[in-house]
Amino acid sequence: MASSSHREAHLQRNLPLPQPSQDNAEFYAAAARGELRFQRCTPCGRFRHYPRPACPSCLSRNFTWELSTGRGTVYTWTIVRGPTLPAFQDRLPYNVVDVLMDEGVHFVSEVLDCEPEEIRAGMPVQATFVAVSDDVTLVKFRRCA
Ligand SMILES: [Zn+2]
Repeated sequence: MASSSHREAHLQRNLPLPQPSQDNAEFYAAAARGELRFQRCTPCGRFRHYPRPACPSCLSRNFTWELSTGRGTVYTWTIVRGPTLPAFQDRLPYNVVDVLMDEGVHFVSEVLDCEPEEIRAGMPVQATFVAVSDDVTLVKFRRCA
């Protein structure tokens, strides 16, 4: 069975992955297509992220999944030097960034191919997609040229 063998592969690599849910299924389906999409409230027009059923501003449950520009800037960040989860031990040090997207939402992720001392607040970044399994594609970032 494909799903159980994938699950075993994840366990072998010991990588914790996002758990699909009713709220984020469309987010991950879009990511698998190479699209970053955010929920946008129909009545008030505000974007939101993480995915959730109701608008935090007006509480409406009416929304669409809008295509993001994929662009943003580093709002803040930290460098993880350890200790960390065993699955990430061989990646130390790595960055965790809060990206302020063009749409105004904050997105927690990682800037790839970027040395810790090179990260700056306000640094322009662009979304990139990393398929980690048949089911999950992660949204990461790269510095804009
Ligand atoms: Zn709203």
